[in-house]
Amino acid sequence: MRQVYMDYAATTPPLPEVVEAMLPYLDEKRVFGNPSSLHSFGQEARAAVEEARAKVAALINADPREIVFTSGGTESDNFALHGVLYANKDKKDHIITTKIEHSAILAPCRFLEKQGFKVTYLNVDKDGLVDPEEVKAAITDKTALVSIMHANNEIGTIEPIAEIAKLLNGKGVYFHTDAVQTVGQINVDVKELGVDLLSASAHKFYGPKGAGFLYIKKGTRMKAFMLGGEQEQRRRGSTENVPGIMGMGKACEIAKIDLPNRIKHLTDLRDKLSQGLLKIIPDIHLNGHPTKRLPKNVDVSVQFIEGESMLLNLDLEGIAVSTGSACSSSTLEPSHVLLAIGKPPEEAHGSIRFTLGRLNTEADVDYVLDIFPKIVEKLRAMSPLVRRK
Ligand SMILES: *Cc1c(COP(=O)(O)O)cnc(C)c1O
Repeated sequence: MRQVYMDYAATTPPLPEVVEAMLPYLDEKRVFGNPSSLHSFGQEARAAVEEARAKVAALINADPREIVFTSGGTESDNFALHGVLYANKDKKDHIITTKIEHSAILAPCRFLEKQGFKVTYLNVDKDGLVDPEEVKAAITDKTALVSIMHANNEIGTIEPIAEIAKLLNGKGVYFHTDAVQTVGQINVDVKELGVDLLSASAHKFYGPKGAGFLYIKKGTRMKAFMLGGEQEQRRRGSTENVPGIMGMGKACEIAKIDLPNRIKHLTDLRDKLSQGLLKIIPDIHLNGHPTKRLPKNVDVSVQFIEGESMLLNLDLEGIAVSTGSACSSSTLEPSHVLLAIGKPPEEAHGSIRFTLGRLNTEADVDYVLDIFPKIVEKLRAMSPLVRRK
């Protein structure tokens, strides 16, 4: 059977070059030293880690000293929130974020509320966009941090980060963005975006799982997140994940060169897929902004049927997609993102997310356009929700 993976927002397969770059650091005969050790074994590992740091920094136009390695997107998001809030807690106690953030932001925000901090959760419009004026209006003299994702992982909407940064200028507020869905996928330049902190995760851009980073602009007042050793300029204790960091460095190096090709390839496939679905299937809606969206993302609500049933039926045909957020696919709650853009719960339940990637071809899209409408037709024939004439 044909196998079509279209769940690249959940994770991506590591590039062969990435695996190759990691191997010397997983091997008893080669570089296994602890980068903090002063002997030659350690110093060889240290040099490699610093080389990878420079590649990561180059991809987002940062200084290598502004990159802190973490275990992934979730840790980077937690670190950004806790680090800023606890470092500035004597004067400020307020966070501004949105209702459509990933749970790696929303869950720590709820935790911080229990610790006495205050959180404003901004609404978004029907396309998932945050209004920069609403961000500005929510600022008080107690606001320490604004955290708004660069692009949403479900509906693919790209937020006006640079515009928001301009409005925050001079307000004494730190600005963080969760860029896990954009680093290595669209152009991400911390200076153009104007952010103080930025989270990313290697496994979302063809790197290994368990490796990520937090960009922390020079001069940002941050408390360490992991208390322990003095690694990462005393900001994140723990022996560095050397193989993971080497893989992430390689993934960044390749992304920098390959970005225009990736965008072109995915945009073409995405448009073919979304236009095909909207043409063939009646009562279907594309979620997210029509143009300010990720090149890889096609999220649709299919009326009268359940996302879960569509997903399982697609899986039987070898097509891997997700419904709602991958992280919430074990719960029966409708997606908080789709509710926030104003979808009624029954439509939010009937959503399917296709996210494309480098191994997808036009033939894959043709296969989905052949199979998916048949599945929808079959499920609708059994659905009690369809109003029959
Ligand atoms: C995947 C994802 C995360 C979590 O990243 P991990 O590396 O899996 O912890 C955070 N934010 C967004 C937007 C994501 O898509």
